[in-house]
Order: sequence, then C-alpha cells, then structure tokens
Amino acid sequence: MLDAVGEVPRERFVPPDRRAEASRDRPVRIGQDQTTSQPSLVAMMCAALELRGTERVLEIGTGLGYQAAVLSHLAAEVCTVERHAELAEAARRNLDAVGIDNVTVVAGDGTRGLPDHAPFDAVIIAAAAPGIPPAITEQIVRGGRLVAPVSQRGVEQVLVYTRDPDGLTEQRRLTAARFVPLVTGSD
Ligand code: SAH
Repeated sequence: MLDAVGEVPRERFVPPDRRAEASRDRPVRIGQDQTTSQPSLVAMMCAALELRGTERVLEIGTGLGYQAAVLSHLAAEVCTVERHAELAEAARRNLDAVGIDNVTVVAGDGTRGLPDHAPFDAVIIAAAAPGIPPAITEQIVRGGRLVAPVSQRGVEQVLVYTRDPDGLTEQRRLTAARFVPLVTGSD
C-alpha cells in the first residue's frame, strides 16, 4: 500500500503553482473549489478496499487524478468519474504524463456510477454525501467493497461497506475527515 503511494509523484497531480505544497501530508487546493486529500488519508482509504491486484475499481471524484494513480498500482483496472470536465481533462493528461495506462477517466455525474463500465469489485467515493447513491451500490459485485465519506451531523465519517445480496452492510468506521460535497449533475 505504501509502495503504491511512494510510486506516485504527487506534485504531478496538483496545479503547477502548488507543487511546493505536494510534499506535505496536507490537503492541497486543486481548482474549481476542490481539494485533494492528504496522502495518508488516500492511503488509508485505498488500503480499506483490500485490493489484491486483479480488481476493477470505480472512483467517484477524480479531481486531478492523484488517488486514481495510487489505485492504478493496486488494481488491474480503474474507472474514475469527475463532474468538472476541466478537472477530468487535466487528470487524463496527468495520468498519461506519468505513463499510467490502466485508468479510464470519464467526465460526468458519478452519483449514477458508470453503468457502461459496471460491475466493479470495489468503489471509492472521494466526496461526501448523506447517503450512498443507489445506482453506485447496484454496480458493485456481491462481496465487493465500498469506501466513502458519509456526512453525519455536519461531520464526514469515512465508512467501509461490503455489498451483500440485499444492499450495503457497514463494516467499520475508518476515520472522520473533511471532504468536498458530492454534487449531483455535471458541468
Ligand atoms: N480523488 C481526488 C480528490 C478530488 S476532490 C484526488 O485524488 O485528488 C473530490 C472530487 O469529486 C472533486 O473534484 C469534485 O468535483 C468531484 N465530484 C463531486 N461530486 C461529483 C459527482 N457527482 N460526480 C463526479 N465527481 C464529483
């Protein structure tokens, strides 16, 4: 897990004028009023997916592509969706520039999941909502995992779920953290 974080040059996944901030374990602003989480939180969330390297993973909220780059080293294939077309475009360029070729970036509304690419063995949501959009749950294979920040009384709790025949079962709480909101619709 830490190897995957070590393999990704974070400064390539923040705006050029913020590269100096990339070496610190702190969130960094990435434009469009969005932020990229600190690497320790990305590592903790990716680790909670318990990937073995063979999975197809969906990420909701690409930003500039940092977490997708980390996941690309842990899974066989990553699909990631970003509602801001400009961020999606920049993420695609960032991933290409470091030679990552197992990530598909889609511009659109991730609250619908990505039906054309489903099903997924694991899903990670990088923006907070009061609940998990049902379309996403439906696109996870039985036994698959979901990690997502869920807003509860003004605080975001990062929760780990498994997909069961009836829907999602909450397994554990990873941590509390601040996240940008999951917004329905796309630019
Ligand atoms: N995963 C990114 C973090 C980006 S911040 C990283 O590793 O740096 C969360 C992102 O979620 C923002 O870019 C925001 O635009 C995006 N987002 C919010 N709601 C969304 C939605 N409905 N569909 C897709 N992306 C969404």
